[in-house]
Amino acid sequence: MTIKVKLVLGIGLLFGMIALLTILSSYYINRISGDTRNILVANYNTLDYSRKMQVALNNGIENADQMNRFETNLKKQQENITEIGEKELTDKLAGHFRQLKKAPIETTLVKLLQNDISDIMLLNMQAIDRKSKLAVANAESSILWISVIGMICFLISFTMFVNLPGNIANPIRELTGSIRQIARQNYSERIHFEKNNEFGDLASSFNTMAEKLQEYQEGNIQKLMIEKKRIETLINNMHDPVVGLDEKNVILFMNDMALRISGLKKEEVINQPVLKIAVNNDLVRMLIQDLFSGSSPSEESNVPIKIYADNKESYFEKEVIPIKIVQTGETEETLMGNVILLQNITPYKELDFAKTNFIATVSHELKTPISSIKMSLQLLENSQIGSLNEEQLSLIDSIKEDSGRLLKITAELLNMAQVESGNIQLTLMPSSPKEILEIAMNATKTQAEQKKIQFVLNMPGHLPKVLADTDKTAWVLTNLISNAIRYSYDNSTIDLAISQNGKMIKIQVIDNGQGIAPQYKEKIFDRYFRVPGTRKEGTGLGLAISKEFIEAQGGQITVDSEFGKGSVFAITLNIESD
Ligand code: ADP
Repeated sequence: MTIKVKLVLGIGLLFGMIALLTILSSYYINRISGDTRNILVANYNTLDYSRKMQVALNNGIENADQMNRFETNLKKQQENITEIGEKELTDKLAGHFRQLKKAPIETTLVKLLQNDISDIMLLNMQAIDRKSKLAVANAESSILWISVIGMICFLISFTMFVNLPGNIANPIRELTGSIRQIARQNYSERIHFEKNNEFGDLASSFNTMAEKLQEYQEGNIQKLMIEKKRIETLINNMHDPVVGLDEKNVILFMNDMALRISGLKKEEVINQPVLKIAVNNDLVRMLIQDLFSGSSPSEESNVPIKIYADNKESYFEKEVIPIKIVQTGETEETLMGNVILLQNITPYKELDFAKTNFIATVSHELKTPISSIKMSLQLLENSQIGSLNEEQLSLIDSIKEDSGRLLKITAELLNMAQVESGNIQLTLMPSSPKEILEIAMNATKTQAEQKKIQFVLNMPGHLPKVLADTDKTAWVLTNLISNAIRYSYDNSTIDLAISQNGKMIKIQVIDNGQGIAPQYKEKIFDRYFRVPGTRKEGTGLGLAISKEFIEAQGGQITVDSEFGKGSVFAITLNIESD
């Protein structure tokens, strides 16, 4: 039976029962009130008339008023005959009254009349008694019927009250629970309603939906598994080592190359905290140091990692890629983990070595012939060897200048080769910053004189010694002053200042030249970088080498420049500690 039919029948039945009870009650109430009315009209009135007639008799019937009164009530009684035998008794009373009218003082007649009235009253009282008993019996049967039907109604409505809410609410509760299971992705959930009603239909639709969802999920999982396998194979076939970590830094995957160079086995690393593996593995420790230092990858971590792999020294460049995704329903990115990628740069490194070696060899080989050219020029200039005319002298000057430039370039290339091969040989010793600066000033004196540029020295009377490599620091300062002269206008000044700042000595080269545009300020320390449009000849190596030399000594080199107004190059050096 459908829920709709059940509800219609239930409510209809209740409605019918209420109607039945109402009709029955009104029928019985009507019957009881009919009985009462009957007694009142038929017998009560007769008793009333009889009483009045008796009063008339008692008050002296010979009196005309009493006679009238008697007659009036007698007439009323004659019109109110309701019981069997009452007519005869009334007629007898009327006959005696007629006789009395003719002889009003006849006492025997009065007695007869009184007896007649008593008989009529007795008859009616007996009738009242009989009718009352009947009315009581009627009332009792009415109560019985109403009680029986009322009880039946109560039982039916009680059964409905107990069963109907449960019949509707229980399947809904079960359905709600199952929908919650589906929401938790438990697609194996099913509902079983035996009944052949709306809930039965609902259950079968629900089960179909759950089945389809299950199929869809299984299909998706299968697809995901295929995709996972594909990506795993791809990562495993990569020639570069790759390590994947989740947000708690547990190792998710490590490709074959990563396992090979770290000497680890797949089963001992997968799903293990990377910190645990790093305790016993130097390479893994090196790979994750940025992740746990809490800082952004430092410059140091950009230095290629040297690993002995494939029976030779290999170089790798490390890249840590944070994996961030925006989860469904969220707006902010969440960190899901990190991928550490090592790029094998050994072939480039080998080429770089070859280049550095070549540059070192060529510049070294060039140094000797250039030096001998310079010596030969000095000899040529000597008037004892022979006199030269003006033109020849100017030719010698320009050859001298070119060979000087060549010597400078070869020196820069040699220094660069030293820097690139990581072989900066430092001879750190306590040195006077003033003396180092003077060496640089002397080396650039002629260049400054050519442009009529004046040096302005600014330093305190007493300065502590610095722990520095005199030659290399002097080379750096020479380079800075030489740049300042080259990029300054004729007849200008260059300030050279030495100051003490805590445990450091700062040496500044301040020019009033063309300055450097802000976008190039950081780049000028890169190898071979020259500000675009620079017309002065140069290699773009001077500042790069200077930076390496100063940092190797624990100092710093900085630039501050205002485009069009001039530049301030500064180096800091450690004060010699006792
Ligand atoms: P080079 O001078 O041989 O080109 P450097 O490494 O010494 O190489 O300098 C790099 C670049 O920085 C130069 O090409 C020049 O454009 C710029 N530069 C260096 N010093 C100064 C300076 N004092 N004023 C303006 N520009 C400068």
